[in-house]
Amino acid sequence: MREPQLSGVGVSPGRASGPVVKVTESIEEPASTPAPDDPHAEAARVAPAAQAVAARLEATAERTSGDAAAILTTTAAMAADPALVSQAEQLVTAQRIPAARAVYEAANNFATALASAGGYMAERVRDMHDVRDRIIAELLGIEPPGVPALEQPSVLVARDLAPADTASLDPDKVLALVTEEGGPTSHTAILARSLRIPAVVAAKGVLTMDADAVAVDGLTGEVRPVDPSAPVVTATESGTAEWNGVGATSDGHRVAVLANVGAPADALTAAEAGAEGVGLFRTEFSYLDAGAEPTVAEQQAAYAAVLGPFAGKSVIVRTLDAGADKPLEFLSQEDEPNPALGVRGLRVSFERTGVLDRQLTAIAGAAEESRAEVSVMAPMVATAEEAAWFADRVRAAGLSRAGVMIEVPSAALTAREVFDAVDFVSLGTNDLAQYTFAADRQLGAVAALNDPWQPALLRLIALVGEAAKEKGKPAGVCGEAAADPLLARVLAGVGITSLSMNPGSIRAVGASLASATLADCERAAEAALAAPTAAAARIAVAEVQ
Ligand code: PEP
Ligand code: MG
Repeated sequence: MREPQLSGVGVSPGRASGPVVKVTESIEEPASTPAPDDPHAEAARVAPAAQAVAARLEATAERTSGDAAAILTTTAAMAADPALVSQAEQLVTAQRIPAARAVYEAANNFATALASAGGYMAERVRDMHDVRDRIIAELLGIEPPGVPALEQPSVLVARDLAPADTASLDPDKVLALVTEEGGPTSHTAILARSLRIPAVVAAKGVLTMDADAVAVDGLTGEVRPVDPSAPVVTATESGTAEWNGVGATSDGHRVAVLANVGAPADALTAAEAGAEGVGLFRTEFSYLDAGAEPTVAEQQAAYAAVLGPFAGKSVIVRTLDAGADKPLEFLSQEDEPNPALGVRGLRVSFERTGVLDRQLTAIAGAAEESRAEVSVMAPMVATAEEAAWFADRVRAAGLSRAGVMIEVPSAALTAREVFDAVDFVSLGTNDLAQYTFAADRQLGAVAALNDPWQPALLRLIALVGEAAKEKGKPAGVCGEAAADPLLARVLAGVGITSLSMNPGSIRAVGASLASATLADCERAAEAALAAPTAAAARIAVAEVQ
């Protein structure tokens, strides 16, 4: 009997059909016997295996660029981590267990520590398991789990993909990607878009779907079984990647194409990818594992390193966004029953004003050192009064341009009053979606609600766009919504003046804007805003193009 079709969240447009290849989940748990005859010789096998895995990942990183390269380099560093290697070596000698078992146990200890740190750290657990399995496979001389070598163009089906797996996919062999878990802002989604592979995430039931071949629609999110003897079909709809480097529609309406960065390496990647500036510098990324508040001098050096590649260009530095999914030890709150709704983002600064003022001093110093055109914005602002409070402190620190993020629905609803207090705003659509739909942005089970094409989210963004036009001030988008080439036109059409994204998406978004007029974008916006559902919005916009 033919299974009914499944519906997930389409995250990378395009249609494809072809044979299914399921990605194996993880290797079998290695046995703790037989005890090695020579534990020291056995322990000595761990480091070369870890080095071999790291070298392979680094070699793949060198053949790729942008986000994919950055992800592979980070995973390679985890594989070669001396702490992981030495813990495994000690387990071999102390417990007289085989090297593969010792790596399994040591990596699991690290993964447990990451999981209990929560937030961004917890998201690294998948990477740690991936590294564990690769080193064990190296020690046992078996194929590592993950994406098998594809003999023919195929549709990959997985629970979720390790970032390193997604980053090393061959777009010529992978017709489409479908994952049971993951959300629109997962690595799989971001990388699928930059590789221009149609993709559907959060497709519940796809792993148990009994189908040898499927048809996938990365726009509507549909996955349905097809006759395996039918010809393979592929039609990517992400437009041409040709772009002249200036963010504008074909009739010259400017929409700056900017990058989101968190570290000096990202800034270089972003500059190489053609970013016109930085729309979001997440300063807290530098301090996720800092035990104490960094000094002004330390902060100034860290910020100047990121600003360096953008001398003469615009960079928006966000003040520390601590709390909820990004806890910082030196700003940690008492246990809160609901951290995403607690004292996070700018709210921390009301109680710890000195930390904000010292950060602003460091940013002002770094701006002078680097000669970038620096603006500063605050995260998690709920009211116009909060915006005015922040703008006063920014100006008192000698910085001339102050803005706020709009990522709480109350700030979007009072955008006019917020604009009166600041020079610009930037919509953080990841959090704005989370708070609009009361849906945790990190939870696969509610990923469909966090889809940036949801009409309720688009209508809030449009309110801010209207207020921006009325006040004659800029309104950017720096959440993942900005990285979707088709949605970029909708955003331009509602009056958004800049789009900031992961560097891997810059070219596709720039090209998408360049191949539409402002009137096309306005028609796309009208179609999306009138749609009753996210899927209908995607289809309506694809049809008007
Ligand atoms: C957002 O919330 O959309 C955003 C850009 O900020 P972050 O993802 O860092 O919370
Ligand atoms: Mg946010």
